Amino acid sequence: MAMQRTPLLMSRLIDRGAELAPNVEIVTATASGTRRHTYAESRNRAHQLAHALADAGVGIGDRVGTFMWNGSRHLEAYHAVAGMGAVLHTLNIRLSAHDLEYIINHAEDKVIIADADALPLLEAIAGRIPSVQKVVVAVEDGFEDWHTTVAPAEDYEAFIAGKPTRYEWPAIAETAPLGLCYTSGTTGRPKGVEYEHRSQYLHTMAICMTDSMGLSATDAVCGIVPMFHVMGWGMPWAGLMLGCKQVMPHRFMDPARILRLMADEGVTLSAGVPTIWQGVKAAYEANPSGYDLSQLSRLTCGGAAPPPSLIRWYWDALGVEMIQGWGMTETSPLATLSRRVMQRAHIDLSPDEQSANVAKAGQVMPGLELGIFDDDFNRLPHDGEAVGEILVRGPWICAEYYQNPQPDSFHDDWLITGDVGKIDADGYVIISDRSKDLVKSGGEWISSVDLENHIVALPGVAQACVVAQPHPRWGERPVALVILDDGADVPEARILEHCATAFAKWQLPDDVLHVKDIPLTSTGKMDKKTVRAGLAAEGYKLPSLR
Ligand code: ADP
Repeated sequence: MAMQRTPLLMSRLIDRGAELAPNVEIVTATASGTRRHTYAESRNRAHQLAHALADAGVGIGDRVGTFMWNGSRHLEAYHAVAGMGAVLHTLNIRLSAHDLEYIINHAEDKVIIADADALPLLEAIAGRIPSVQKVVVAVEDGFEDWHTTVAPAEDYEAFIAGKPTRYEWPAIAETAPLGLCYTSGTTGRPKGVEYEHRSQYLHTMAICMTDSMGLSATDAVCGIVPMFHVMGWGMPWAGLMLGCKQVMPHRFMDPARILRLMADEGVTLSAGVPTIWQGVKAAYEANPSGYDLSQLSRLTCGGAAPPPSLIRWYWDALGVEMIQGWGMTETSPLATLSRRVMQRAHIDLSPDEQSANVAKAGQVMPGLELGIFDDDFNRLPHDGEAVGEILVRGPWICAEYYQNPQPDSFHDDWLITGDVGKIDADGYVIISDRSKDLVKSGGEWISSVDLENHIVALPGVAQACVVAQPHPRWGERPVALVILDDGADVPEARILEHCATAFAKWQLPDDVLHVKDIPLTSTGKMDKKTVRAGLAAEGYKLPSLR
């Protein structure tokens, strides 16, 4: 043995920021402004929380649910639960009561730490989650009168008060579980993905690299992506490790408030899904002199494809680089990532070409392997032409679902992602669609993503969502739902004319529906399943079939 076999435990990383940067702040938005802690305080509080949880009977491997927005107490829960060897089960606040009940029972959560404002959602399943022995309630301004009958409940501050400020983090195996996150269930019941210390440790290192998000101790990071979704894309861990300033929006997700927070706190890097950045863009344009974003340099965007026009706007209007990441709950999440310049050969590219790089889902993260395959699992070439199912494998890729065998999701040691795409000669992955969202017309694929990107590039169009509708002859035909900017008038004919400049006639939408809103999934992406169900419920028929 030439080198020490030090287990890759998160407890080796999470106290580092507080040791090196004790006075750096962790800022949480509140009704009246912000609440601020230093890393030194936050660390003490996290160790106190670990003691309180242990006193409440939580041991190594026990699940602790969190039902919380992004805030300092949620970060303390990450810190405490990972350190003590328990499992942080982040519960999605936007799930239906039905899914929530299933998930909590499936995971057998022992304690739930909940934000007081979110308690009514838990209350809906009171009496139906028998494993939960205690609810710890994090109270923000205005919610002092909380009440719950879910389980014996205690105020968070009372729960941790007086506990020792140092907890001896236990030595456990690096393959021990650390987190649990259920996929939001686009099909069937939600499935649990268990993260290990080793997998998150390696993922944390990988996201910080210069060619990834380039995270530094000097950054002020603002995760808009919920901490209840895929470990907040790893940003909370990176922050704890590096000691960078962390800025958290809590429940104040209005784009103007997000902008105000980012400006006031000098945020340098933020992360969220494209619908967030579309909203923030509109809020900025409504008041362009209202926000000083001179500190902001990068926005990580993932979870769905950002339209190229959006990527370009942030660069041209604000000088902010959008970084695209692709991944899923099963990939921890970051599997590929794209920046304007990721190779020496790209240094001299034009701004247009550099933006075009970011419009691709990106190059595979170091340590992972990714390929495209046909229906018989034969590898397809990386020539920018062949389109196939994307498979991925590596140390932070899920190997099985938590107590839920799903053999169809895996092939040998590969994860079958459910995404379809191509890989170009530079190794960039380009996502065409999700296998379940594809529009298949007359046996040919029509990329809903390409149509959407093209439509939103038209001035006056705020958002576009393309879904398949059944057709007796063609199998399926595309229909576009479009939200216009306030006061804009972009008729159907204009949209189709615009699509005809880039798409073949058979690829054009059969119909354009002007709508006021497009339903979003619990993770803030366009919810095509609900869009399709809504059209079916209305008895929608394609124009040619009426
Ligand atoms: P779900 O969207 O099913 O609730 P996830 O959050 O795990 O669950 O989402 C993963 C999926 O999101 C991917 O399989 C892919 O379809 C989509 N996705 C994620 N990032 C991107 C991206 N950059 N471009 C296109 N699609 C993306």
